[in-house]
Amino acid sequence: MHNIKSYMASVTRMLEGKKLVCINCGVETPSHINPTFCPNCESAISIDRATLTKNDPERIAALDAINAGVASGDFESAAASYDRMITKNPEPGLVYASGILHIKWSNHVLNAIDYGQPGYMESNSATIDLSNAIASRSRSKFTHVVETYKLDQSHQDSLSYAYTVFLSQIKLGNYQNAKSTAARIPKMGSAEVSDYSGAVLDAHTGRYDSVLKYTDSLVAAGKLYPNAAFYAALAMFNKRMDRDALQLATSLRDVIGPARVDRLIGKINALGRISEGPISI
Ligand SMILES: [Zn+2]
Repeated sequence: MHNIKSYMASVTRMLEGKKLVCINCGVETPSHINPTFCPNCESAISIDRATLTKNDPERIAALDAINAGVASGDFESAAASYDRMITKNPEPGLVYASGILHIKWSNHVLNAIDYGQPGYMESNSATIDLSNAIASRSRSKFTHVVETYKLDQSHQDSLSYAYTVFLSQIKLGNYQNAKSTAARIPKMGSAEVSDYSGAVLDAHTGRYDSVLKYTDSLVAAGKLYPNAAFYAALAMFNKRMDRDALQLATSLRDVIGPARVDRLIGKINALGRISEGPISI
């Protein structure tokens, strides 16, 4: 049984940690352990921004341009920046991260629907078509990662490639295939990636007891990853422990950013199952 106080202490430790940067999407996250997992695209990350800037200034500049594009709603230029990076350097992690960008772009387009506008039905059908077309492009990025891996035997033993294939299969909803890929990861020698992959699969397939068992063990070992904490909050919510889920999710706003956390917080509050009065958060 989880202890919410231990989880909150883990989040405090995360915030006191060093910031690590994702080499595939450029998002930074504070972490007291290394390696950890990117809260945006879930790539394994282990270096800080200063090191990446020193080692590969062109890459950090391109990722900054992508994130500036996303922040201003200019997803088209962000996607084009990814295409240029991938043409030069066809890494599966970049193709996968470009797929994540397309999911965000598709959602961004869909969120622009104005239901109050006269004649909104007509203009909205064009918006929905555009959103679907972008979502389809994201699926083709994930499919590309999976298919290239199958064809290219020289990368069959690459842990990071196999893990990227696993994440792509999760995004495609191919959980059975993702499970087969995750089963190969222990042989590649990373207990962290192997265990985390198991938790990602469990979170996506609704095995919340198993998610909490995993995150409880990370808390006990002092190694809770930011994203694992998010899955723990999701699991608590789905196991109807709304008060703990809300407290943990709210604390994660400063760690993994409000965009993802606020959807979960909104869901918890919308159900209104917490009736014992106000919660201090
Ligand atoms: Zn990332």
